[in-house]
Amino acid sequence: MKIFISADMEGISTVVSMGQVDPGSKVYERARKQMIREVNDVIEAAFENGAKEIVVNDSHYNMANILIEELDSRATLNKREPKTVEHDAGNR
Ligand SMILES: [Zn+2]
Repeated sequence: MKIFISADMEGISTVVSMGQVDPGSKVYERARKQMIREVNDVIEAAFENGAKEIVVNDSHYNMANILIEELDSRATLNKREPKTVEHDAGNR
């Protein structure tokens, strides 16, 4: 089973203000970390339930919010525009 996850910041738990989704704000980094944690939780659950391949699409703002080094290394990340694909080379 292949899974495609499109992740946006609006809707992430703890995100309640526009400042949290603005990469220029002081509170952005905390929300960004939460976004990555929640995406990793989904990846974990998907693999536990039979996923064989997972692609994560970073879909918020400049599409460069998810840090590849913090993403579950079993997943592939699509980011920026035009979309590029990154793997965590250290774990492959
Ligand atoms: Zn967004």
